[in-house]
Formats: sequence, C-alpha cells, structure tokens
Amino acid sequence: MGCPPYGRCLALELSDLYSQVIRDHNRSRHNKRTLCDPTVTVPGKNPSCGDEIVLSLTLKDGIIEDAAYTGVGCAISEASVSIMIDLIRGATVAKASELCHLFFRMIGSESLTREELEELDEAVAFSGISRMPARVKCATMAWHTLQVALQNASP
Ligand SMILES: [Zn+2]
Repeated sequence: MGCPPYGRCLALELSDLYSQVIRDHNRSRHNKRTLCDPTVTVPGKNPSCGDEIVLSLTLKDGIIEDAAYTGVGCAISEASVSIMIDLIRGATVAKASELCHLFFRMIGSESLTREELEELDEAVAFSGISRMPARVKCATMAWHTLQVALQNASP
C-alpha cells in the first residue's frame, strides 16, 4: 500500500509542468530541517498513504519568520509541504490562514480568480489533484497541519 515511488506515477498523473514543480521541491529539500527554537510544532499524518511530517513555525509579532518540516512522506506530500513553507515564510498569521482556505477551495474544485491563483503561486501545481481522490490527502496534509499550528499559536 501507500504511494508508489515518485517519478513514475507522477509523470502519468500530473501534467509535465506540475510534476516538474513537484520534482524540484523533492530534490531541493531546502525546507526539510529542524528549527532551533520554534514557537509551535505540530505533527501531521496521512495514514491512508503513510505520510508523516512535523511542521514547525517560528512566529514573531504575528509574522511567520521561519518554517520547516521533518518527517517522511510520498513525493506529493513532501512537495506540498515544501511549497507551502515557501509561501508562508514571511507572511502574517492571517495571510497564512487565508492561503489555507484558498488551497482547500482549489482542491475542492472551486474556481478561483486569477488573483487568488497567483496568491497560491507554485501550490497551483496541485490543482489537478482533485481528479486523483487517493492523492488528495497527500496534498492537503501539510495545509491541515498548518491550520492546527496557526490555531495553537494564537492565544
Ligand atoms: Zn502520500
């Protein structure tokens, strides 16, 4: 069970452009590290695939100064968390929360405006995932984990 090794299935399931974005994030691993003194650390789990991450955020004055993750997941889940971290680093907590909602709306096949899609930037690579129900949880795990982290961080 679980997700097949990345590369083979992604090439079939996603368009070339989007699988390239996902591949780049899997290769770079620049967001996969431990933060020294995180404000909030939240585990995320997707049992249907075996994806398990721990997301850490460092917050200061309502701004996400830094974010990183550790753990292991399939290519889609790790690319999703990495892309999400690039998006939220430097953002306010309110902005990150708004991005969560946008991402879930996109995954739910709602049509977003051009401006909204631009806000999601590389995360639009997952827009086609709703056509692959088995992989939806892989793509959304990071964002669900972020929601919990933001809730835990707010007094
Ligand atoms: Zn997965």
